[in-house]
Amino acid sequence: MTGGLEGYDEVAEANAQKSILDIHWSRICARLKAEVGEVEYNTWLRQMGVGPVEEDEITLYLPTRFLRDWVRGQYGDRLGALWHAEIPAIRRVELQVARGPSSSAEGDAATAESHPAAPVAAAVVEATAVEEPRTAEVRSDLAAPLDPRFTFETFVVGKPNEFAYACARRVAERPSSPGFNPLFLYGGVGLGKTHLMHAIGSELVREGRVSVAYMSAEKFMYRFIAAIRSQSTMEFKEQLRSVDVLMIDDLQFLIGKDNTQEEFFHTFNALVDAGRQIVVSADKSPSDLSGLEDRLRTRLGCGMVADIHATTFELRISILEAKATASGVDVPAKVLEFLAHKITSNVRELEGALNRLIAHANLFGRPVTLEATQDVLHDILKANNRRVTIEEIQRKVAEHWNIRLTDMSSARRSTVVARPRQVAMYLSKQLTSRSLPEIGRKFGNRDHTTVIYAVRRVMELMEQDPAFAEDVELLRRMLES
Ligand code: ADP
Ligand code: MG
Repeated sequence: MTGGLEGYDEVAEANAQKSILDIHWSRICARLKAEVGEVEYNTWLRQMGVGPVEEDEITLYLPTRFLRDWVRGQYGDRLGALWHAEIPAIRRVELQVARGPSSSAEGDAATAESHPAAPVAAAVVEATAVEEPRTAEVRSDLAAPLDPRFTFETFVVGKPNEFAYACARRVAERPSSPGFNPLFLYGGVGLGKTHLMHAIGSELVREGRVSVAYMSAEKFMYRFIAAIRSQSTMEFKEQLRSVDVLMIDDLQFLIGKDNTQEEFFHTFNALVDAGRQIVVSADKSPSDLSGLEDRLRTRLGCGMVADIHATTFELRISILEAKATASGVDVPAKVLEFLAHKITSNVRELEGALNRLIAHANLFGRPVTLEATQDVLHDILKANNRRVTIEEIQRKVAEHWNIRLTDMSSARRSTVVARPRQVAMYLSKQLTSRSLPEIGRKFGNRDHTTVIYAVRRVMELMEQDPAFAEDVELLRRMLES
C-alpha cells in the first residue's frame, strides 16, 4: 500500500500542462477508436501513453518495440494529423518504447489485452484527478476515467444479465428514483459489472445534466488516504458529496479496511440523504459480504440489488457475434460456436480469445479457421482441457444432429440416426483410449466389426463431403481434451 501512495505523490507532481495534454489525448483516443474500430484500437493502440512535448514534437510511448513499429507504420501519420488538429503547434509525433509495469510479452498483443488494466489514457486522466483534490473542478475529473467502450449499446443482453441491465438503464434514465437507490450490482469476475457502471456514467454524462464520479473502491481508499496525508479530508468529503451520482466499483475491496469503510459509509449516507444516486458493485450480494460492517451492508441492500449470473452458451454466442461484427473480421460461425463451448469462465476471457484471433487474422492476413483458432489459442484452450468420455461424445453428437440420446444405442438403422451414431463411434475411437469391443458395447452392445465399419465409413464420407468433414471436425475440437 505504501508503494501505491508513493506512486501517487509522484503523480501529484505532474504539472497542469500534463493534464491539458491528457484531455487532448483522450479526445484523440476516442477519435482513433471511432476511426479504426474497437478491436483494432484495443489490439494496437490502447496501450499507448503520452509523453512530453518539445517544441513541435510530442512523444508517445508504447510498451514493446513490436507495437511501436507497428503503430508507427500503420498509424504514425494519422497520429501526427490528429495531434496537429488538437494542438496546431505540434507537427511531429515521436514514438518510443517504454515498458509499463504491466506490459507483456513482446508482440503478443492479445496477452496484453487480456490484462484487465484500464486504458492508458484513462488511467492517466484518473491519476491526474488524484493530485489536486483541492480544486472544485475535480468533479469533472472524477468522471473522466469512464471507458468509452463500455456503453449500453455495446452491452449484449441475455437471460443472465437482463435484470441487471434493466436496472442500470433505469438508473441512467432516472437517477435517484426511490427503490433504485442504491443500485447494487453483483456477480462473478468478468461478467459485466464494470461495463454496466461505465454505461450508466456515460449515459448520464452524455445527457450532460448531472455530475458523475466513478471509481474503484481501491481508488476511493487511496484518495481518502492521500487526503488524510495532505490534510485535505474536508475537501475530499465535500467533493464527493457534491456529485449527483457516485459509483464505487468492487466494494469487496473495502473488507478489512475499517477506516475507509467508515468514510464510505458516511459519504453514502450523506449522498442518499441529499437525494443523490449511489451505484455499487461487488463480487457478492450485500448479505454475503461478510467483513463489511453490518450497518453498511444493511444500507447497501436497501435499494435495488441485481445480480449478474454466469453466462449461458447463447449469451456467449451473442457476445462473440457482436464483437466479431464490430471487428470487421470474418469469423466463421463454427469458430464462434467452438469458442463459446470452450471458454465458459467469463466474458473477459472470451473477449481476450476473440481479440487474439482477430489480431492474428489482421496481422497475417489469413482467414480465421478452426485450425488456426486451435493453434493461436493453444494456451487458453489447454486450460480447459479434460478427459472426454464416450457418454459425452454421444451426448454432443446427438445434440448436434438433433437426435435422441437413446438412439445412440437403439437398433434403428435409418441414416438419420445411423450416421450420427457412426460419427460418435468414430470420435470415441479418436478421442478415448477405449478398445473397439468396449466402444461397441457402449453403443447398444454392437459388435466391434460394426465400430470398425463406422470408423471407415466416416473417414470416407469426410473425404467426399467437406461440409460433413467440417461438422465432424467441429465436434472433435469441441470434445477434444
Ligand atoms: P466485471 O466488472 O464484472 O469483472 P467487466 O465489466 O470488466 O466485468 O467485463 C469484462 C469484459 O467483458 C469487458 O471488456 C466487458 O466489456 C465485457 N463484457 C462483459 N459482459 C458483457 C456483455 N454482456 N456484452 C458485451 N461485453 C461484455
Ligand atoms: Mg469490474
